[in-house]
Amino acid sequence: MKTLTFTIARFDPSADDTPRFEEYTVEVNDGARILHALHAVRDTIDPTLAYRYCCGSGQCGSCAVRVDGEPVLACMEEATDGMVVEALNLPLERDLKVEMTSYLLEMEGLVPTDETRLLTRAENEALKPLRDCIECLACVSECPALQVAEFTGPTAMRQEMRIALDPRDDRDRVERNVADGLFTCTTCQRCVQVCPKDIKIPGKAIEKLREFANREGLTLPKHQEVALLVQRTGRSVERIKPTFMEQVPDVIEPEGEVKREVAFFVGCMYNGRLPETALDMIEVMRRNGYRIHIPKDQVCCGSPLIRTGQTWILDELKHTNILAFEKTGCDVVMTMCAGCGSTLKNDYVTPFTVKDVNELLTEDGFEAPESLPLRVTYHDPCHLYRGQAVHDPPREILRKLVKEFIEMPARCCGAGGGVRSGLPDEAADLGRERGEAIAKTGAEMVVTSCPFCEFHIAEHTDKPVINITTLLRKGYAKKDEEKGKKE
Ligand code: SF4
Repeated sequence: MKTLTFTIARFDPSADDTPRFEEYTVEVNDGARILHALHAVRDTIDPTLAYRYCCGSGQCGSCAVRVDGEPVLACMEEATDGMVVEALNLPLERDLKVEMTSYLLEMEGLVPTDETRLLTRAENEALKPLRDCIECLACVSECPALQVAEFTGPTAMRQEMRIALDPRDDRDRVERNVADGLFTCTTCQRCVQVCPKDIKIPGKAIEKLREFANREGLTLPKHQEVALLVQRTGRSVERIKPTFMEQVPDVIEPEGEVKREVAFFVGCMYNGRLPETALDMIEVMRRNGYRIHIPKDQVCCGSPLIRTGQTWILDELKHTNILAFEKTGCDVVMTMCAGCGSTLKNDYVTPFTVKDVNELLTEDGFEAPESLPLRVTYHDPCHLYRGQAVHDPPREILRKLVKEFIEMPARCCGAGGGVRSGLPDEAADLGRERGEAIAKTGAEMVVTSCPFCEFHIAEHTDKPVINITTLLRKGYAKKDEEKGKKE
């Protein structure tokens, strides 16, 4: 047995306006789950504690709660001393109980055609990634799009795709899916992160339903423009100034000896809109001993097309890119755009390894910069943090680079999934939320590692937004300056 002291957010709708936090100390068995700790409070301290549970084995989804801010199934996670247990971020009924019924009742069900039949094995397999849902609503409670837009939410869209793949129901509901907010999802993957069944809703449902919408001519006009631009130029942004690739040779040598050789997947944004940021990154890598190949025949990775369901020219883009990078002979392709990195890692089958620049620097080790006298926060780009599981490397860099690094909760800025171009009002609402979160940290600067986030956040904060490699270059410049003063 062990003694556990933890906090529960209590809420009595007849007396409280907002939840109040109460501390409890209970005796539980070693290895007790959160649900056991809640039972102990109810059985030994307060029999009125309200919470849901049923199977106790991760099968029914009814006991989902937030622990230290993250949605979990109370029956599956071990109880820890000091934990804070709150209800999911859904309409609150009492204590840890939230209102789920209305959402679940509105979810679509299968309506079989007259000619019902058994599923083939292949059809059954296709449904598998979508039918494991236990209706815990963790994804719904955390979806940023659902907070600001008319959207039925992640698991409702999952259910739509599950039915769309089922030949026993042949209704065409694409038009209704679009009306239900199909294009409001930013593909931030927060739903995947919190899903106890690891259902990949953006990739397996949202983007596929968007493909159906595309076939029926329902793609948003702005997204169609991007696809036509990629088809015409190989790039998803228009050329408005000399591009990065126009300014650099095919191979860039390091300052000293060659420690590693990589090829650089530039990405449309750094090539066309932010070439100076890409040049900063190159200088950082040169200083750290990288020889960098830049195949000039590389094209858009296809991310803006995949996210918006316009995959008809994807194979051509993939083929061109893989060939271009194969020719360099490098076994590692470096990215600095979160969206490109995530796409190359998750949507391509490549004969080379793909690594984000933050990963490379921290895995190989990088020269320590001079610490800058700054108080900064870091915005996790969704497609770097959730899309590539790159969380610690930028923090490792920042801790060596600035005087004070302040954490900020990782949340979508609203720029992804085609939302910034297709639904700018929604993107602005989410951007404003980020701006408020930044202000709360008290930081004087925001650092990030994605061109879309850089652009979008800059519109919603009065603080400077800077790419991590640009800041690292400044750290090296300061080091050189200090060294110069001593000499
Ligand atoms: Fe829960 Fe996952 Fe189903 Fe969402 S998709 S309701 S997170 S099981």
